[in-house]
Amino acid sequence: MKDEPPVPECAHWIGSESRYCRSVDSIRNYLPGLCCPLHTPAALAGRPEPQPGPGWPAGTGTRPSLLAESHVHDARAIASGKRRATPADYRAAQAAVDHRSDLNL
Ligand SMILES: [Zn+2]
Repeated sequence: MKDEPPVPECAHWIGSESRYCRSVDSIRNYLPGLCCPLHTPAALAGRPEPQPGPGWPAGTGTRPSLLAESHVHDARAIASGKRRATPADYRAAQAAVDHRSDLNL
């Protein structure tokens, strides 16, 4: 098992000096490991540090999906027999949607 340093320190290898950075100021964890501000992935790539964004739009995940809405059954679909339902639901839907009045029987 790899030895973990007792104090969090920058794990960047400075090749020209043949040593690890080992700075302990403002250490943060990145995908490559713990980094000081001079050796973050963005700093090493010469880019500015990414700024926190606004995040997800308000209300994201609160609206039911279209798939969930497709499961909403209306009495007419159940009464037609095309929508699968329990016999009790089918009879209730048949009573709610009177087909005979449509056929003038
Ligand atoms: Zn460093």
